[in-house]
Order: sequence, then structure tokens, then C-alpha cells
Amino acid sequence: MDLHTLLICTALVSFIMMLTMAALFIVSRNEKYLLDWLVCGVLFFVSNLVGIVATQVSLSWIFHPSFANACYLGAHAALFSGVSRCLYGRSTWLLVAIVFVGIYLLNLLPPMVESVELRIVALYPVVAALDISATMALWKHRKEEVGRGYYLLIGILFIFAAQLLIRGYFLLAGVENYPWLDKGLLLDVGSLAVIAFVFLLTISFSVVVTWRKELALREYSFTDHLTGWYNRKALEKVASNEIKRCSRNNFRLAFIVFDIDFFKSVNDRFGHIQGDKALKHVTKIAKQQLRGYDHNFRLGGEEFAVLVSHLKPQDVELLAQRIRKKVARTPLYIEGEAVHLTISAGVAISKNQETSWEDVLKRADDALYRSKHDGRNLVTSYGDLAEA
Ligand code: GH3
Ligand code: MG
Ligand code: MG
Repeated sequence: MDLHTLLICTALVSFIMMLTMAALFIVSRNEKYLLDWLVCGVLFFVSNLVGIVATQVSLSWIFHPSFANACYLGAHAALFSGVSRCLYGRSTWLLVAIVFVGIYLLNLLPPMVESVELRIVALYPVVAALDISATMALWKHRKEEVGRGYYLLIGILFIFAAQLLIRGYFLLAGVENYPWLDKGLLLDVGSLAVIAFVFLLTISFSVVVTWRKELALREYSFTDHLTGWYNRKALEKVASNEIKRCSRNNFRLAFIVFDIDFFKSVNDRFGHIQGDKALKHVTKIAKQQLRGYDHNFRLGGEEFAVLVSHLKPQDVELLAQRIRKKVARTPLYIEGEAVHLTISAGVAISKNQETSWEDVLKRADDALYRSKHDGRNLVTSYGDLAEA
């Protein structure tokens, strides 16, 4: 297979990668790692462009192989940078710059220009190290829900790094020692591997973005946009999973349901916009009393629920009291006036092996109405929690 055609094919797929990353970034501005992968595509493209020119005219070694190799390794560093930004929110531009400049300067050394073997020894391990580091970073996140979007990328990076090291070994060991191996074939396989790699990278980058956006949309559809608490749709999903988990492990699931007292008068006096602020104020205070593994929901209007599954019965009531007291003690300032809001709450806990979360929620709701009936700014438990 002639080198010129292979380089044109690689330049074409790199160009497709560039366009795809740019188009994806235009519609997904929050996914900043796409910029790193856009640079990855640009560097692959430029590297191949220089290669194509070098097959037609004789280029100074400042451009070929030095600049072309710097772009090629820089592209792998930019790929790693995108993975880092995607996983940890930090890109590694310094690494990209170091790899680019370092490889460029290294390739300017006369022995490097003269010896293909030396270039293999110096460059192949750097590419493999960058790709394997990206693979390992992604692998650590494979068990998270978002990790399902990383599998294709993990597989492609690993296979590419492995074939590079295997080919590098045979090229250095001398193909003449292996009668079944043909050097031309080995080099063609290398070029074809790069074409397939860049092509499949484009697909796997697109899979990563699509899956992350799908999860973000799901999260969005489960969230109440005023308070940031989960909505009723999320309650059904979370509570049915939690009750099964509790019944399997012999834990108790508890609901604290609360409702703001005389909330209508806040709306009537200050208007709906200030009423919305009051809702955010109360949910913010309540959230501060919760742990990361507690689940909090807006049931509708100014009624909320907290689901806990790790506390002893008496501690659930203490938590509800803590929320109630904190809300009562923290005034909300509206137009310079301190408005004291209070909540009424109801607490209920699942019975041994109970499988209906709806029944537990209903009992918590009944207890909440008892609090309203008994004068508000109160916490009432349904029955004796310890005996539940
Ligand atoms: P109680 O102590 O018995 O709970 O009295 P209340 O006035 O709080 O109860 P009621 O259910 O009569 O009123 C709830 C009010 O909450 C009515 C409604 O206008 C208001 N509300 C519901 N959702 C929202 C919202 O998203 N924003 C605002 N500003 N008000 C809301
Ligand atoms: Mg109310
Ligand atoms: Mg209400």
C-alpha cells in the first residue's frame, strides 16, 4: 500500500474528527473537554498534512519528521488532557506543551533524524504511556453510571497502545528473525491502525458526550428547578429502590414530611416572587441539616419530604426537630423586614419487612396533619417509632 494514500486517508479522518468535535462543542458548550479533543484532531491533521507534503517535495527536517512527530505526540497528549478534563474538570495543557516542544527538540537531534529505530525507541513508549494513562484514569470510573459511556474509548486506547508496543518490539528486534513477518506489512498495519484509531476515537468521543448529556437530562427531569430538590418522579424511583434495599438488609426506611406554615400569607403579603425566595430559603436550611446520602424531595407546592434509611428511629425524629428549629430561628429578610417562617413536620418509619414506601409516606403525611392540627411549628411521629 503506498504511503501517500495512507497519509491522505489519515488526514481525512483527522479532519472529520476536527469537524465532529467542533460541531459537538457548538451544541454542547458545557462539555469543555471537547476543546481538548478538537485540538487533538487538529494536531493529527497537521501531522498528516506535513507527511503528505513530505512525500511530494523534500522538506527540511525541521518540518519532517520533527514538526510532524511533535504534532502526532501532541495529539495523544491533547487526548489525555480531554480525558482529564472530562473526569476531573482539569485539562493538562502544560503536559501538551511539554510533549510538543520536548518531542520537537528531540527530533532535531541529528541521530534521531537519521535513525528510524531511535525514533521508535524514543516515541512509541511516550505514545503508549499517554494512551495507557488515559485508559487507566477512565477504567477507575467504569463502575459509575457515567462510566458506561467510557467503555468504547477504554477499549480503543488499550488496543492501540498494545499494537504499538508489539509492532515496536518486532521492528526493533529485526523482522529478519521472524520469517513469517514482512516489514512492509508491519508498517502498513501501523498506518492502518492510525486510520482506524482516529476514526474510532471520533465515534467514542461522541459516545462519551452523548451519554453524559443523556444523564444530565435525566437529572434535569428529576429535579425541581426552583429549589434544586428532587421532584415526585424521582421520589418514585428512589423510594422504590430504597424500600427494597431496606427490606433486604433489615434496615428501616423513614420519611420526614414537612410543610411551611401559613405560606399563603407570605405570597399574599409580599407576592409570588418573594414567596419563591421563601421556598428556597427553607429548603436551603433543611438541606444543610442533611447528609449527602439522605434524599430530599419537593412533593408539590410548599410540601417536602426527606427520606432516610440509615438512622435509628429516635434519631429520625431528632433530625426533624433540628430542621424545624433551624427554620424557626433563621429569619428571611424581605424588603428589609425579618420574616419568621415555621414548618410543621410528620415522621413515619417502615415496619419490619414492609414493602410499600407509599404507605410509609402516607403515615408521615397523617402525622404532619396532626402537627398542623395541634398548632403548627411542631414535629409529630406516627405511632411509637421505636415499636415500628
Ligand atoms: P398551612 O399552615 O395550613 O400549611 O397554611 P398554608 O397557607 O401554608 O397552606 P395552603 O396549602 O393553604 O397554601 C399553600 C400556598 O403555597 C398556596 C400556593 O399559592 C403557594 N404555593 C405553592 N407552590 C408555590 C410556588 O412554587 N411558589 C410560590 N410563591 N407559592 C407557592
Ligand atoms: Mg403550608
Ligand atoms: Mg401545603
